[in-house]
Amino acid sequence: MKQRVNRATETVWAGEKNYRAHGASQVPVVNSVAYDYEDLEHWYKVSTGEAEGHIYSRNTNPTVAAFEEKVAALEGAEAATSFATGMAAISGTFYTFLKPGDRVVSIKDSYGGTNRLFSDFLPHMNIEAVLCDTDDHEALEEEIGKGCRLVHLESPTNPTVKIIDIKRIAEAAHEAGALVVVDNTFATPILQNPLELGADLVIHSATKFLGGHADALGGVLCGNAELVGEVFHYREINGATLDPHAAYLLLRGMKTLDLRVRKQTENAGRLVEYLSGHPAVEDLFYPGLKTHPHHDIAAEQMRGYGAIFSFSLKGGQDAVRQVLPRLQFANRAANLGAVETTVGPANTTSHVESTEAELKALGIPSSLVRYSAGIEDHEDLIADMENALGILENQSYKREGTGDVLQERI
Ligand SMILES: *Cc1c(COP(=O)(O)O)cnc(C)c1O
Repeated sequence: MKQRVNRATETVWAGEKNYRAHGASQVPVVNSVAYDYEDLEHWYKVSTGEAEGHIYSRNTNPTVAAFEEKVAALEGAEAATSFATGMAAISGTFYTFLKPGDRVVSIKDSYGGTNRLFSDFLPHMNIEAVLCDTDDHEALEEEIGKGCRLVHLESPTNPTVKIIDIKRIAEAAHEAGALVVVDNTFATPILQNPLELGADLVIHSATKFLGGHADALGGVLCGNAELVGEVFHYREINGATLDPHAAYLLLRGMKTLDLRVRKQTENAGRLVEYLSGHPAVEDLFYPGLKTHPHHDIAAEQMRGYGAIFSFSLKGGQDAVRQVLPRLQFANRAANLGAVETTVGPANTTSHVESTEAELKALGIPSSLVRYSAGIEDHEDLIADMENALGILENQSYKREGTGDVLQERI
């Protein structure tokens, strides 16, 4: 019987022992494209699934399988299958389950790439995506009630870290006979397990927190063996397979996932505490703030509020342009979830394709900055932020777009 252990132990041990070779204590990178058999009978048995083994690395590979097992264990899932990127996992899931005439219900704040699937590609197949206001649970339930094949959710969302009550929406979806897919990239399995909340499938961009070192792309899908098997079948034919080298980097990165996410979450909380009292800050979004509209849902369904928050400055874009380059301990980059702190304005990262009007409709301030806390010392991060914001002292700013001048000196 498999002994249930805690997540910190699973991050280190799950998926490892089954794939070691030659007595090594680490899973090897198996670069082999294909596999050799004693005789044709054995080959035939592996091909038909009667014997364990691998055929061709586009389909399965030992290093990749170890990575999948680790993620499945952490999500409490029966099975997992992996992909070259997070977007391959999301699109592969959609193309597996959706047929012409189907309807998808989702949210306006989905990851940018996911949104492009809804707007630019699914309509080619006569698949309609209805995107609701992210935190409008009634609107989501109403659209789901009209009938749909799939409900795609993200919580917390990018970049304004909105929260969806996964249990509540999953119930509505199941009543309508729909599959529930949750993109759990922001929360990570350390802080949230959507399958326990009623989701059927969980997706991660492993590129972000799972790998954690911003040096490998990957995606993964978890759920029951039947559903995951269907998506695996699509992926082995579609070909968006995870590379064994990337699988190794992700596997190694995941050994410290629990440590990293705990520290990153603590750092984000400390930074938010500091910024919430700062006179230069206009908006501050973090599910851990009591003023967050769905703080109570986050407290209920998450074990921590996450490493990501966002904020805007009273001085608008001008202020952001001055402050961000002065941060010494932050990459100005389009990714998140890495050991290094990463910052970026929403209008150059997740929403680079959105117009000013679209940002406004989404409730995203045009000068919003996403901050993904790394594992650095929190006092250094706060000092770094203090120093960067210092450039705004004794300045008054023209607010971009509106033309009114901020009178107060910040
Ligand atoms: C980055 C990201 C993706 C896409 O993942 P890639 O690995 O870049 O393809 C999907 N969802 C969320 C929430 C992300 O942050």
